[in-house]
Amino acid sequence: MMTDNNPWTRAQKQLQTAAKNFPIDPMLLARLQNPDRIVEVSVPLSMDDGSINVYQGFRVQHNNILGPYKGGLRYHPRVDMDEVKALSFWMTIKNAVVGVPFGGGKGGVNVDPKKLSAGELERLTREFTRKLFPVIGPEIDVPAPDVNTNGKIMAWILDEYSKLAGHETPAVVTGKPLERGGSLGRPEATGLGGSYALLSILKMMRKRPEGLTVAIQGFGNVGSYLAEYLHEAGLKVVALSDSKGGIYVPAGIASIHEVQRCKEKSGKIGGCYCIGSVCDLSNMKKLGGREISSEKILELPVDILVPAALENALTKENAKKIKASIILEMANGPTTAEADAIFKSKGIIVIPDVLANSGGVAVSYFEWYQNVHKKHWGKKDVFKKLKGKMERACEKVHDISLRYKVPLREAAYISALKSLSEKNAGAHKASARKKRR
Ligand code: NAD
Repeated sequence: MMTDNNPWTRAQKQLQTAAKNFPIDPMLLARLQNPDRIVEVSVPLSMDDGSINVYQGFRVQHNNILGPYKGGLRYHPRVDMDEVKALSFWMTIKNAVVGVPFGGGKGGVNVDPKKLSAGELERLTREFTRKLFPVIGPEIDVPAPDVNTNGKIMAWILDEYSKLAGHETPAVVTGKPLERGGSLGRPEATGLGGSYALLSILKMMRKRPEGLTVAIQGFGNVGSYLAEYLHEAGLKVVALSDSKGGIYVPAGIASIHEVQRCKEKSGKIGGCYCIGSVCDLSNMKKLGGREISSEKILELPVDILVPAALENALTKENAKKIKASIILEMANGPTTAEADAIFKSKGIIVIPDVLANSGGVAVSYFEWYQNVHKKHWGKKDVFKKLKGKMERACEKVHDISLRYKVPLREAAYISALKSLSEKNAGAHKASARKKRR
């Protein structure tokens, strides 16, 4: 169904709006409106009980003008092609915005990995890799973890690819375990990058971060690190939630680290009211806190709202109830087009996903670079480079936003279209020179 909630429709609209503000070569526009290639493969799997299941695997390679296709692989029973096409498009834009020499890609297998044994998961991944072998590689397409995939799965892909290639090829995937060529700082990268983006935009708005209140929906890899880093920077994190609900402490959550430990122990964030290292529901009253649902957390009276869970969290239904003056989009595609229009009319600043969460792919690029150049950077070095990339991207987007008098999302798209246009024009000139010779 082509609705406001359809991410691919939304992605197309975002592209059209940007191209109105910054007209580009019609051929380039046509390329960006359609993925370069959609690869579909069958993945037969022999199950532990001797039966055979056949899954569908796919890879959308959206665009490679800036460099090899780059983006995650997700294992999910309802793989929605429009969603994956949109995600691959957003990778093209994101990589251009943050300034890494990668294009956009995304893919996965339509499987529920929670129903597979460890052996089945490994066999599935290895078979999927064999099928993708001709279309991936360090200079072609570099997958990474996404929903329900992780470093271990990347290590199996690396193994299988290396066997077929005839040599160890760590740069074929990113998000690998450290001992297989992963980068220090990758787990923290998206959350830390988001905090750099927010601090950088606040600085340009001449707003001091200290004491600003923050609510975060989603307390996984991204949300938890972001909360920690914002807390460290002096902001007041007052609410956190996961898929089962959340906690709200208007006076501020004293230790994100303790909440994280509590969540790890109890499997949910609800009830994690911590005084010192003691976390439980009985502390709620003492802290003046209350339980909150993962939907209501979005409507709290805070300065900064962070959707860090799934797509389409902010819709036309709840957009009018949002009280935050700044939204930091850490999830991919958390705001529908209609919600975005409401935020624009209310003057709410949206720091868009393609900028806010681009720290993850920036450090993925650092990982790939270290693999290709046989280097090992320390964590401090990685964070310093990440900070530089995020600040430069934010300054560029902010400048465009002022110059074109458009919100940050449109500015980010213009920034991306500029980079893509320049590279595209450069490539055309080079090929024309070659022909003349
Ligand atoms: P994750 O699986 O580690 O965490 C997701 C969190 O969201 C969990 O706490 C989960 O309980 C919560 N959640 C799920 N459904 C929810 C709901 N309906 N309401 C509230 N919370 C809910 O995933 P992650 O890696 O932290 O990714 C979060 C988002 O950030 C995703 O949109 C992802 O695409 C995006 N993102 C992640 C990275 C990265 O490097 N991990 C990079 C860029 C973008």
